[in-house]
Amino acid sequence: MKIICIGRNYIDHAKEMGKEVPKKPMFFLKPNSAILPKRNPFFIPDFSNEIHYEVELIVKINKLGKSIATNFANTYYKQIGLGIDFTARDIQQKCKEKGHPWEIAKAFDNSAVISEEFIDIKSLKEINFSLKKNGQIVQKGNSKEMVFSIDEIINHVSKYMTLKIGDIIFTGTPSGVGPVKIGDTLEGFINKEKMFSLNIK
Ligand code: MG
Repeated sequence: MKIICIGRNYIDHAKEMGKEVPKKPMFFLKPNSAILPKRNPFFIPDFSNEIHYEVELIVKINKLGKSIATNFANTYYKQIGLGIDFTARDIQQKCKEKGHPWEIAKAFDNSAVISEEFIDIKSLKEINFSLKKNGQIVQKGNSKEMVFSIDEIINHVSKYMTLKIGDIIFTGTPSGVGPVKIGDTLEGFINKEKMFSLNIK
């Protein structure tokens, strides 16, 4: 399976990064080796001094498809979960400055947190989600604030890459991204339901 991550899909996050909102969905990949094993803590890697959390709604693809029309895209998923797209922001900044690929900042081991549970949904139109760091809400979003809907994302990505059963799409993060340090706890919620709890070590 592969993990497809959408960048700058919330206007307020694009702004906080000092970037424009893209005209088409912007995406990058994480390999399956990036998945944090279930119930493991996240160990801060020694190559970065600035690991940021980015909480994101995630969608699981349940049908093989290529060049999927937007109005059929909703038949390619029926479950959502919640994840964190951990980012080595200091390294990402250097990659951006040099115009280099992002993998060392985005695709490293354990950089993809995926909730154990997924929720059946009929529509992705209005789903609230949030992230608490040490008990305080640091990020809050609603799927209706996405610049590109999941159906538009599936249409765009599947022009270039075949989507396979089990692939996961990280749909972008709202504003409020920030650093983690040893001893922090992160808890993610969809509506009031806790989707994951994670210790930083
Ligand atoms: Mg992200």
